[in-house]
Amino acid sequence: MATDRRPLAEVVSARVGGLADRVRRRSVEMKTPGQIEAMRAAGLVVAAALAAVTEAARPGVSTADLDGIAEGVIRDAGAVPSFLGYQGFPRSICTSVNEQVVHGIPAPQQVLGDGDLVSVDCGAILDGWHGDAAVTLLVGTPRPEDEALSAATRAAMHAGIEQLVPGGRLGDVSHAVEEEARRRAAADGRTYGIVADYGGHGIGTSMHMDPFVPNVGRAGSGMRLRPGMVLAIEPMLTGGTDETDELDDGWTVVTADGSRAAHWEHSVAVTDDGPRILTAPAS
Ligand code: MG
Ligand code: MG
Repeated sequence: MATDRRPLAEVVSARVGGLADRVRRRSVEMKTPGQIEAMRAAGLVVAAALAAVTEAARPGVSTADLDGIAEGVIRDAGAVPSFLGYQGFPRSICTSVNEQVVHGIPAPQQVLGDGDLVSVDCGAILDGWHGDAAVTLLVGTPRPEDEALSAATRAAMHAGIEQLVPGGRLGDVSHAVEEEARRRAAADGRTYGIVADYGGHGIGTSMHMDPFVPNVGRAGSGMRLRPGMVLAIEPMLTGGTDETDELDDGWTVVTADGSRAAHWEHSVAVTDDGPRILTAPAS
């Protein structure tokens, strides 16, 4: 799915540091080079599904239409949509429109209109390995402020990804995401909220694994990054507040002030050659 709330145990262990960090590090699933190749195969399925959705998103198309397109691509590839049935989630992708941040549920009556913004989050399982990625799409003629918000969010994601190198620390990733978001806000002459209740995560044989990857943090802090770790990096920025609410459907997260939100995500392996984006489109 999109993202995890930060578990209380993570908050406590982050504050305890030292010993807790050593214990926590042992809980991270390490992948062999062969397993990373298998995760790349799963990631390619996610990339293909998102490419098809990107191609299809236009005024008059419903979010349920996009869901059907993504599920078709995933199943045609011999994979399984990981969101479908996840903790009861009823669809194969999350579609979050305008003030919706993440975890929106596709619906036939939710028809995209000119100038809408929709974040599409997609996950697939192939041969037991998970891929998870998200894009923000601007429908029809985009609003300039939405283009800037989406570009800033994507840039923040890539700033975080660049920090996924052996010997770095988890806090370097969080700090880079936060710094890039703030830098872009200043450059755009706007205030962007960095949603902190949700964030990235380890991924592999499950979708959501240790560690939690906050989108704000301190450089030089946290777990040491090692080759074989795979993390989903997924900033969510808003055009206003960083506060969110959850709708009565139990899933959809919206901005508390009604401002629009963007969400970008890739699943990325830490390798000796640097970060490898497993959900990048085939080149
Ligand atoms: Mg996701
Ligand atoms: Mg995710």
